[in-house]
Amino acid sequence: MAKIVVDQNRCNGCGKCVKLCPFNQIKVVEGLARIEIGCTMCGVCQESCPAKAIFIERETPTPADISNYQGVWVFIEQQQNRIKPVSLELLGKAQELAQKLDQELAVVLMGDNVSKLIEDLASHKIQKIYLIEAEGLKRYTTEAYAYVLTSLVSQYKPNILLIGATNTGRDLAPRVAARLRVGLTADCTDLDITEEGYLLQTRPAFGGNIMAQILCKYTRPQMATVRPNVFKKPVPSLDSGSPEIIKIELPLNPLSGRTKIVEVVKEVSEAANLEEANIIVSAGRGLGSPDHLYLVRDLAQLLGAAVGGSRAVIDAGWLPHHQQVGQSGKTVAPELYIACGISGAIQHLVGMQTSKRIIAINKDPEAPIFKVATLGIVGDLFKVIPLLIEGLKKIKN
Ligand SMILES: Cc1cc2nc3c(=O)[nH]c(=O)nc-3n(C[C@H](O)[C@H](O)[C@H](O)COP(=O)(O)OP(=O)(O)OC[C@H]3O[C@@H](n4cnc5c(N)ncnc54)[C@H](O)[C@@H]3O)c2cc1C
Ligand code: SF4
Ligand code: SF4
Repeated sequence: MAKIVVDQNRCNGCGKCVKLCPFNQIKVVEGLARIEIGCTMCGVCQESCPAKAIFIERETPTPADISNYQGVWVFIEQQQNRIKPVSLELLGKAQELAQKLDQELAVVLMGDNVSKLIEDLASHKIQKIYLIEAEGLKRYTTEAYAYVLTSLVSQYKPNILLIGATNTGRDLAPRVAARLRVGLTADCTDLDITEEGYLLQTRPAFGGNIMAQILCKYTRPQMATVRPNVFKKPVPSLDSGSPEIIKIELPLNPLSGRTKIVEVVKEVSEAANLEEANIIVSAGRGLGSPDHLYLVRDLAQLLGAAVGGSRAVIDAGWLPHHQQVGQSGKTVAPELYIACGISGAIQHLVGMQTSKRIIAINKDPEAPIFKVATLGIVGDLFKVIPLLIEGLKKIKN
């Protein structure tokens, strides 16, 4: 627990802290700073008070015995017996981390009849595969998966646990972290190992205005989630050796939870697989009005592409949030990304610049999107897109 205190003998009521508190939680009342209940103990005021009048008293946590925790683990997410690409992307990074720490790389593979997926993992320099097969794990449920993963971690004590920030991962990781009473850094954009051997977790903070670097010094495992397409998939290696398979037998009936999946209904959406789409056509404010979205949709349909959008388009309510590409939306890396009327602000570029090929359509030759484009079309999208559609239709016919 932490406590924040204003030393009344030192505070001179200058109000500097009031302006600097990012959460608006300080008032000057009768010449003295008063901290409000919503203070997050971020520490900004303590560092900036010229009179050194603010103190945050933090109890130093008693470090758990972290020396017993060894190895880098990746949770392998599978759906209908297909490994999600993000799990392979994490494996690439995990190989690097394990090498730096000189610790083993292990994965957790759970589901029903998932042992056939071991083949897809074998070429990734994994030393151990924890395999848990049970009918109750056929479909993801929070209770069952969190139960199994928490039990495994408690028993085998990994140093690091990485999970993809997919819908499943975003549900599972915090449950597991809470049960283990450890921290979790969600949506990391980079991971590394410090000189002292801690996992250095980088992620945007304060609405993306700063990149925070987070260390977890007192508890284990160090847990992080990473969005799809942030890391590149590793190249399979021919000399990976064969991983040790550790089959975990579950105690009788541990999975009969309070929730039951009755039916899985697939969402019929033009953005259903934005993160896994091969081609994405994205709409920007240059379209001028939601009435013109049909241009992007028609082009996407002809190409078999998913439809995305810039934040300007999402904020204006032209498309739903799950179709936003960029720093505060989805990170994508398709074979082809077509940006229509998108200026190319840095927050958009970080979400799509690793796409293999980028075609940008913009009437402003100075638009920053052209700096990352493989092919730039300087022109009015109301003329260019219909020409592309016409050309594609001819080819198709
Ligand atoms: C913390 C933070 C997080 C953010 N997160 C994201 C994010 O996740 N994703 C994101 O996209 N943005 C994000 N933004 C917003 C970002 O800074 C930009 O404001 C946004 O990307 C702009 O969207 P846009 O390119 O569609 O619009 P604009 O910047 O307005 O660009 C419109 C473009 O269309 C072109 N144009 C206009 N008419 C035509 C025409 N007829 N033909 C061809 N071209 C035309 C113009 O030349 C212009 O380049 C974030 C901002 C902040 C501060
Ligand atoms: S900055 Fe320091 S001295 Fe000034 S009001 Fe805040 S606590 Fe008091
Ligand atoms: S610790 Fe942070 S949130 Fe709390 S009062 Fe100071 S600046 Fe505001």
